[in-house]
Amino acid sequence: MVGKVQEKHGYCTLCKSRCGAVFTIEDGRLTGVRPDPAHPTGAAMCPKGRSAPELAHSTARLTTPLRRTRPKSDPDPGWEAISWAEAMDEIASKTAAIAAESGPEAVAFGVATPSGTSVSDATEWIERFVRLFGSPNTVYSAEICNWHKDVAHAFTFGSPIPPPDYAHTDLALLWGFNPAKTWLAQSAAASAAHANGMKLAVVDPRRSTSALSADHWLRVRPGTDAALALGLAHLLIETGGYDSAFVRAWTNAPLLVRADTGRFLRAGELPGGGQGFVVMDETAGRPEAYDTARAAVAPERFALRGTFGVDTATGPVECAPAFERYARACAEWTPDRVAATTWIPEREIRALAAELAAADVVTYYGWTGVGQSANATQTERALATLYALTGSYDSRGGNHVAPPPPYHPAAPFSLVDPVQRAKALGLDKYPLGPPASGYINAGDLCTAIETGSPYPVRALIGFGSNLVVAQPGSDRTAAALRRLDFQVHLDLFHNPTSASADIVLPVNSAYEHEALRFGFEISHRAQEHVQLRPRMIEPQGDSRSDTEIVFDLACRLGLGAQFFDGDVEAAWNWQLAPLGLTVAGLREQQGGVRAPRELAYRKYAEPTGGDGAVRGFGTPTGRVELYSERLLEHGYPPVPEHVAPAPVDEAFPLVLTCAKHGYFVHSQQRSLTSLRRRAPDPSVDIHPRAAPARGWTSTDGSRARRRSGVRERCWLWTKQPCLAQVRTRGQASSTCAGATCSGTGG
Ligand code: SF4
Repeated sequence: MVGKVQEKHGYCTLCKSRCGAVFTIEDGRLTGVRPDPAHPTGAAMCPKGRSAPELAHSTARLTTPLRRTRPKSDPDPGWEAISWAEAMDEIASKTAAIAAESGPEAVAFGVATPSGTSVSDATEWIERFVRLFGSPNTVYSAEICNWHKDVAHAFTFGSPIPPPDYAHTDLALLWGFNPAKTWLAQSAAASAAHANGMKLAVVDPRRSTSALSADHWLRVRPGTDAALALGLAHLLIETGGYDSAFVRAWTNAPLLVRADTGRFLRAGELPGGGQGFVVMDETAGRPEAYDTARAAVAPERFALRGTFGVDTATGPVECAPAFERYARACAEWTPDRVAATTWIPEREIRALAAELAAADVVTYYGWTGVGQSANATQTERALATLYALTGSYDSRGGNHVAPPPPYHPAAPFSLVDPVQRAKALGLDKYPLGPPASGYINAGDLCTAIETGSPYPVRALIGFGSNLVVAQPGSDRTAAALRRLDFQVHLDLFHNPTSASADIVLPVNSAYEHEALRFGFEISHRAQEHVQLRPRMIEPQGDSRSDTEIVFDLACRLGLGAQFFDGDVEAAWNWQLAPLGLTVAGLREQQGGVRAPRELAYRKYAEPTGGDGAVRGFGTPTGRVELYSERLLEHGYPPVPEHVAPAPVDEAFPLVLTCAKHGYFVHSQQRSLTSLRRRAPDPSVDIHPRAAPARGWTSTDGSRARRRSGVRERCWLWTKQPCLAQVRTRGQASSTCAGATCSGTGG
């Protein structure tokens, strides 16, 4: 007999793609999921998303709050089931006591990535709680995978990388980014555009799904991406294949830089004074004040190359336009040197440079291949400045800045008390790094727990963050967590990080609670989409959502007024108010509604006043920064720089890189049978030419395979370069160039 069958419209939360989906529910059980073509991100779903029923109904799920009854030295925690009231009372009282004794900074928080887990349903409210509680210490593992694209990119453009506009571009450049495995909505958009004539260039040592059909596939040696980007920029500059009008008007390229200090010459230093900076007027042959708060007047006059003696109020000073400094740095990367460094044939480098020069508009994206290297910030700078040369930013077919609908954000950074913000662990070492945004490194957290320096961290509340596995040095992290006075872990399943917790709270899956989303980060149209995702099935066991838990905890810790007295629906209605929408109304429109926004390009040129003032860019000079005085002031190179990776030699003849797996996100989903069956073991790909020398056997003439026990010595090229021995299952594959091998992870 067939029971009651329902279909509900929602979206998958297992990665940043947030694919629109239709869920099938039979007799209260989630039984199926398929793409929702009516949704702006609903073109397709990957195996992870399709495994929703397995995830929701897994018998391994945590279903009740648990309290440890044995010491942390005991491998058996002796979990006892407790009520929610007991659990939350204990969490609130112990957290409050530690904050009162040692300050709120003694309580750290861990949050799983919103780009790869359903914690994204609650991220804003978790951040609101952490900021109002007063802790400056949240471990997001941001330094591992999103630092370059969300923060380092801002050193150049003043914002994270906006989404690519594949539909209208001439050329898409995917750099260390394989959207087919990590962001299906982008992959679908890129494939459709490619079929319509868009050119596709992929920089990746692996023959990724994207590389398979690319017009240009550059197999870069891991860790040398900055050299390639600088070399491409050099070719564009040498051949005049860059957008000189954009570079003169909207980058800081024409601003004069003092040779003696490396700082920009200020207009106030000229004998006649003035506002802002100084450019050299090539037509008149004299320096001129240039206030970058305003649009440039006849910027075609501005010199980009050369050196000039400038008379200042205190005497003559030698200066050069910032572009001269940038171009000189790029010129060090001649095609033959780039080829030798990156292992990419020179003809392929020249071909991509010619394609970049020929394209009217270019779009790009880079992810873990860029971010998971020891030189991520400089690599991102090299890429971002290369992209600036195309003049495509925020244009139709470029990387288009498409903000979400205007709603009330729950966690503005201004909620952080400046006194507490200054206490962020690691801020002294990385004043421009993640701690400046309240996101500390796990290594600094461990040090504070181990040594009490600069102050003791005594408690950790982890919202699904699996630090023991996600961070380097698992043994150290696990040992540090065991030293905490109090640890709380929220999750769907036990994991190595929950093993040391004092209390474990069962969180439900995205299918068991409502969630509100403002915009989907793929296009202007998708960003207009506002959706209240319905609850598909009842919560499994006694599980609760992250949002419910954080509202409850906030109220118990005296933050009820800021958390709508625990009323989640009231909080969402407050967020929706500027849009004229309500939760009740959205419940009636299950697939979501469109909150139309004006489609605008090149918003940096928009006037902001009647005196020529323009919006510009959110950088210190108000322009795209080919030259960064801010980085210089903190001891970093002001123009991008390549840092050579560890050499390949006889002792370590292979370079190991890694790529995200199509079946798993980070440490998740390994217990789901349908996915694990497809990828039962960790694996490493290696080029067929490198395989025989390592004793790998050929089984079918084209693909050598050694089923188990492969042990190799290689450089593990990660954020923290280290020597590693790999023991895993290996297969020879033409996906990896030369002496590179690629493992699954990241
Ligand atoms: S790409 Fe896969 S995991 Fe990511 S949102 Fe889509 S279906 Fe979910």
